[in-house]
Amino acid sequence: MSNSAQIGVTGLAVMGRNLARNFARNGYTVALHNRTVARTNALVEEFGHEGDFIAAETAKEFVAALERPRRLVIMVKAGDPTDAVIQEFAPLLEPGDMIIDGGNAHFADTRRRERELREQGIHFVGMGVSGGEEGALNGPSIMPGGPKESYDSLGPMLEKISAKAKDGAPCVTHVGPDGAGHFVKMVHNGIEYADMQLIGEAYQLLRDVAGYSPAQIAEIFRTWNTGRLDSYLIEITAEVLSHVDAATGKPFVDVVVDQAEQKGTGRWTVQIALDLGVPVSGIAEAVFARSLSGHAALREASRGLTGPKASPLSEAEAGAFADRVEQALYASKIVSYTQGFHEIAAAREEYDWDIDLGAVSAIWRGGCIIRAAFLDRIRSAYDTRADLPSLLSDETFAQEIADAQDDWREVIVAATRQGVPTPGFAAALAYYDALRAERLPAALTQGQRDFFGAHTYRRTDRDGSFHTLWGGDR
Ligand code: NAP
Repeated sequence: MSNSAQIGVTGLAVMGRNLARNFARNGYTVALHNRTVARTNALVEEFGHEGDFIAAETAKEFVAALERPRRLVIMVKAGDPTDAVIQEFAPLLEPGDMIIDGGNAHFADTRRRERELREQGIHFVGMGVSGGEEGALNGPSIMPGGPKESYDSLGPMLEKISAKAKDGAPCVTHVGPDGAGHFVKMVHNGIEYADMQLIGEAYQLLRDVAGYSPAQIAEIFRTWNTGRLDSYLIEITAEVLSHVDAATGKPFVDVVVDQAEQKGTGRWTVQIALDLGVPVSGIAEAVFARSLSGHAALREASRGLTGPKASPLSEAEAGAFADRVEQALYASKIVSYTQGFHEIAAAREEYDWDIDLGAVSAIWRGGCIIRAAFLDRIRSAYDTRADLPSLLSDETFAQEIADAQDDWREVIVAATRQGVPTPGFAAALAYYDALRAERLPAALTQGQRDFFGAHTYRRTDRDGSFHTLWGGDR
């Protein structure tokens, strides 16, 4: 077998297969490997005409097919399977070779794997890939971490196969060392959860408060998609809402079980935010909302609980309400991204990563699930001021929220009056109000902590740590 493949992909399920085809379509010779050989053969049979593939049955053959330094992409199930595959291939590699993990690994695993492989002289690149199977084939957003020097040889190939933003820039950059790429991919997914939850709340308000049908709401989303909310998720929401179930003739959304599933990256985003002490309340509400939806028995047992008397809006009022919902959705979206970028900034500090937040927003402009015109705005906010403490400190975003806030508040009031849950909108507003508050009840919390546990407190007028001798028996 000739060692002429510039890149190899092992793990040829939907993602790996499409990524391999993407490399081949871009002129690279691609070595193929999968634990179950049938998948490799199927790829060659079906898509062999698309480019130059070298099919390998064994790990040894696969490694032998790669030119040096070897670039070996792993696209297998995240977790133990990834470790198993690394253990299978690492002994066959030589110093300077690269293992690139394109799966959805936990960044802490990526940090461990990078450390272990570094001892062997192997460059381990944890690489976030977003865009689903369609993105993998036609151009994903790619978030590689790992050693910077690996990007010198890998980067140009990734730039070729990645999505391109509207200005033609490839949606890939070296995000930072070791686990930085997988960390950023994880936060991307957390923001994706929040975006989807906020869109879901907007839909439910338009349906239950304004009284619109799914088809009418699809039209409203199409209109929104021509403005500042222009994004992939708004676009596909309109498609889903206008889809009619062939079997029943009902709106598709009405025949789907209303229990959302999750694979874990949203949950990780929240778990790690808790560890880092970063308030990502909007993302957390999105994860909890999916979790609540899945508690079928609890929901069934709670159906009889009393709610307010609902009074749907008149047709005339509904139009104005829809405009307000757009404002609430946009303002809440700014807050979700603010929280996500804060989490990345906190990790950059904690792990001493050199992550450029503007570059991260730039590579999310195309290929990935949260791609949106809005990301161009975030990039220019960071371009204007790289050390922006928060997106809310950007003048343009602050002004947009100021303009939206009356409607945002009205929407949450209307939702509360009508008993429609809007945890995402409400959490975003509470975050905004808490950040801008002159004084927070945290002072009272400190008093309580000192009272029951002598935890001490700091004063506003003097330096130092204080404890009050509280009266009564303690
Ligand atoms: P998947 O269903 O997550 O994994 C199936 C692949 O893993 C198959 O090739 C399978 O080989 C291999 N595999 C499983 N256990 C293995 C083991 N112990 N040893 C060797 N190989 C093993 O496939 P996927 O949906 O294409 O996703 C691949 C990776 O990309 C995952 O980490 C996923 O989280 C990530 N990802 C997926 C998406 C998406 O939209 N699906 C998007 C971004 C990232 P066999 O054929 O032999 O079973």
